Amino acid sequence: MKRDAANAKISVVIPMYYEQEVADECHRRLTAVMQAFADYELIYVNDGSKDDTLPILKGIAARDFHARVVSFSRNFGHQAAVSAGLAYATGDAVVIIDADLQDPPELIPDMVALWTQGNDVVYAQRKHRKGETFFKLFTAKMFYRFLRSMTDVNIPADTGDFRLIDRVVKDAFLQMPERNRFIRGMVPWLGFTSVPIEYEREERFAGTTKYPLKKMLKFATDGIISFSIKPLQISFGLGIAAVVAALALIVYALVSWLTGHAVPGWAPIMIAVAFFGGAQLISIGVLGMYVGRIYEESRARPLYIVKETVNLPDAK
Ligand code: UDP
Ligand code: MG
Repeated sequence: MKRDAANAKISVVIPMYYEQEVADECHRRLTAVMQAFADYELIYVNDGSKDDTLPILKGIAARDFHARVVSFSRNFGHQAAVSAGLAYATGDAVVIIDADLQDPPELIPDMVALWTQGNDVVYAQRKHRKGETFFKLFTAKMFYRFLRSMTDVNIPADTGDFRLIDRVVKDAFLQMPERNRFIRGMVPWLGFTSVPIEYEREERFAGTTKYPLKKMLKFATDGIISFSIKPLQISFGLGIAAVVAALALIVYALVSWLTGHAVPGWAPIMIAVAFFGGAQLISIGVLGMYVGRIYEESRARPLYIVKETVNLPDAK
């Protein structure tokens, strides 16, 4: 195992979706940092952007052989883009980093240092986040807390995909075939020796977030549903609670009937219908989310479709 920073090859995977304002600066900052290593490669994954991201990346790759480009046929999502980058990575260790420079590339040497000390995974944990809306900060914080309480895997809080993984971890990761991917949970699931490294999350260098609320919600449900069956257990619990409440209602109705108190009838029926209707809908909805994912997994479609690559061997 080559864990010697002076000889190791380090791969960096950078997903890009509509990042034309960011691409050049991203390459400049990464190159400044990566030049210190014996060998490195920068794998840019164009996740179906229709702006100038791909031409800019091609320009970079034409000038610099360290830069590789993988371009998807359409937008397959951040997690698929990272997975593709990992599939092409050939380094002894691989770093996953966002394109928008919210994850400072200057942290990479410290991550590599921790890796050479024998850690298989070095995950960046954000201490502060600059320039993000209160809504994003609040929902992110709640999400990580909620996720940790719902899942059995120890998913570290406030940790995104910015991390370094050893090639052994990468190879194990690539054996996980699931379609609804939640990388920040899948890596901890794999095990291995992991250590956090703290950093300040910067503001986006340019452009706007590529995670609108809809994508965030999909991502959050993927995280919870793929790592926990607790929602199913909770809906079962709700069902039990509904049955208990129903029994109480039956007793109440019987007592009123036996004691001759005329029950107007309407209110209890409405309460019962609304309550059981609600409980059933919740449970069916939760079931549906799992069934939907079983369906997606069973189709076993590829995670992404690569349209073209630059500075890389044949498509994988
Ligand atoms: N991204 C991607 N595909 C998508 C959405 C985002 O490859 O469908 C990339 C994006 O270009 C960036 C990273 O994923 O490099 C994180 O996205 P962003 O910075 O927009 O998310 P935020 O930091 O606001 O959560
Ligand atoms: Mg960002």
